[in-house]
Amino acid sequence: MRTLILLIGFLLTPSLFAETLPRHAPVPGGVALVEFRAAADVEPLARYQDRPVLVLAHEGGYTAVVGLPLDAAIGTHDLEVAWGGNGRSTIPFEVTSKEYATQHLTIKDQSKVDLSQADLERHWREQAVVRDVLKTRSEPLPALDFLQPVPGPYANTYGKRRIINGQPRNPHRGMDIPAAQGTPIRAPADGVVLHTGDFFFSGNVVYLDHGQGVLTLYAHLARIDVEPGQRVVRGETIGTVGASGRVTGPHLHWSVYLNRNAVDPELFLPETTAAP
Ligand SMILES: [Zn+2]
Repeated sequence: MRTLILLIGFLLTPSLFAETLPRHAPVPGGVALVEFRAAADVEPLARYQDRPVLVLAHEGGYTAVVGLPLDAAIGTHDLEVAWGGNGRSTIPFEVTSKEYATQHLTIKDQSKVDLSQADLERHWREQAVVRDVLKTRSEPLPALDFLQPVPGPYANTYGKRRIINGQPRNPHRGMDIPAAQGTPIRAPADGVVLHTGDFFFSGNVVYLDHGQGVLTLYAHLARIDVEPGQRVVRGETIGTVGASGRVTGPHLHWSVYLNRNAVDPELFLPETTAAP
């Protein structure tokens, strides 16, 4: 029987890895940086809610970069770490609450709010494609100090609860950056183009794979400049801002996925000095 080693997770000193890690924000839709020490002479495999998690090695131990779902429960969560055949560790960490604002939106095209049967079926097919895309987990170690893909204000656009034409809808699992139609969109980090498509709600989309379950999505594009399988480097143009899909105007919708959870992209950008 495998030995269960219970370790106590502790918070990372924020200054230590500020250049390479997202900010520690253990809230629903945030990122928990969970530090643990080596318990065996092998590389650890970490899982959260049964999905593999990005783990970065550093002197003296490891940091798991855990993406928390927007509907995460407040309280103690567990990171499960396996050390080859040499036992397991359970590392508890705390998720604290965060209140997200409610946003009322008016979509002029009511057929994009009350979907026809054909549009609904199209949306379901697209959701199945997205589920497959999000399962991607490639080997390269991702760089996590992201470039902002287009310039513009973005504060607190992630996580908003949405009322669209008076009807409650899914909360917003990405960042919205308003920008003029045709503004170039830059890759925030090196990666590979995972998928491109034209979706009912998201319009023209590009998914990038940065490695180890770190994926990014760009939606509502006017033009897509890349093809699946293509390598992109940090700063390279992947398409242009548009208003395709269900939108109120031209903007970039940007989502960042960690272990299949869309987390707040703001945590990967340099901290702004602007008032919240
Ligand atoms: Zn959006």
